Amino acid sequence: MFKKLLPLLLLWILPAAAQTIAIHAGHLINPSSGSITNNQTILIQDGKITAMGSNVTVPAGAQVVDLSNEWVMPGLIDAHTHITFQEIPGKAPFEGMYLKEGSPFRALRGLHTGQIILNAGFTTVREVGNEADYACSDLKKALRMGWFDGPTIQCAGKIIGPFGGQSKGMPEEVGDFWKHEYLDADTPAEIVKAIHQNIYYGADVIKLASDNSDYFYSENDIRVAVNEAHNAGRPVAVHVYGGKAADNVINGGADSIEHGFTLTDDQLKLMKEKGTFLVGTDFPTEHLAGLNPSNETLADASKLGKNIIDRLSRANKIGVKMAFGSDTVTEMPGRTRADMMFDYLAVWRAANITPENILKAMTTSGAELLRISKERGAIANGYFADIIALPANPLQDIESLRKINFVMKNGKIIRAPQ
Ligand SMILES: [Zn+2]
Repeated sequence: MFKKLLPLLLLWILPAAAQTIAIHAGHLINPSSGSITNNQTILIQDGKITAMGSNVTVPAGAQVVDLSNEWVMPGLIDAHTHITFQEIPGKAPFEGMYLKEGSPFRALRGLHTGQIILNAGFTTVREVGNEADYACSDLKKALRMGWFDGPTIQCAGKIIGPFGGQSKGMPEEVGDFWKHEYLDADTPAEIVKAIHQNIYYGADVIKLASDNSDYFYSENDIRVAVNEAHNAGRPVAVHVYGGKAADNVINGGADSIEHGFTLTDDQLKLMKEKGTFLVGTDFPTEHLAGLNPSNETLADASKLGKNIIDRLSRANKIGVKMAFGSDTVTEMPGRTRADMMFDYLAVWRAANITPENILKAMTTSGAELLRISKERGAIANGYFADIIALPANPLQDIESLRKINFVMKNGKIIRAPQ
């Protein structure tokens, strides 16, 4: 009896060889060089690219995906997201959002938002905090288990900052309600401990908020954080707008400045020299208008919006390394989070950045900052098959990224042209 069952049993035990997928790419874009090669075939097996070129033989039985009329490129990377977080403008102060939604709900929000943006072409995101009590880590685990489709996610855990997180001026009797989103760390020893806690609970990147108050991290504080994080193989991302706090962040050796809205040319030059990335979170004016009470008036938002374009343009001219980061946390009626992320393209265009450099910031440079450039951010042999396609050339019109109609993540087809 057992002998009869053995072949069936083996069939059940031995994993079936994964089917090969062959993509016929009409126009294959290489964002790192801005070049296009036509009529390429890409073979994918077990989630990775195994062969590519114009003379690749498609194995018998392969699933063929015909994208011969499409522009094909690596999946997009957003280096500054908050997919587990959603601010509702005008409904409550920013701080109030931490109190309204528990961590399980936040993980589910992250799944919902993550699927929307994956469908739009963002195959990798870096969640830089505001994820309640490590909701991002649990979401990441669930996605790795294969329970749901979603983008590859890197999590920051709790944002580490001087006392008070990113809240300001709340009455003392309210208590440290920010502790579900932030870790207070006011000395080098506290910074080290906070980094250990975050890594223990699943952080892939260490996020500091440096200048949310009149007090901010010293150059030594930043250096301590960078050494500790780097020893554990994690980059350090720092929320800072400008001024002396930004000097400290750059000189302290942080991997990226997040926002940097008021950086001077001298600071941008220093960033270039040190290889510091700018993740500019370059908000369109209409997003700023709804973001927080201090920008309520359109005049304020318009001023900051112009400032952001000017800073982005100067950073580009100086040659600072830039990774695309949207920081989208608001909601607009009838628009998805992905629609709003693509609104940033208009800001980059206004700063006279070429489509080639925008694509680079959304793929190659993002992968470098996230320390995944040997596995994602390009279409190449041995890389994870994170592949997107669209019916128009984004190097001619960057706005055509809104038309992405094919998405593959880790070799799985998430979306195909109708
Ligand atoms: Zn942010």
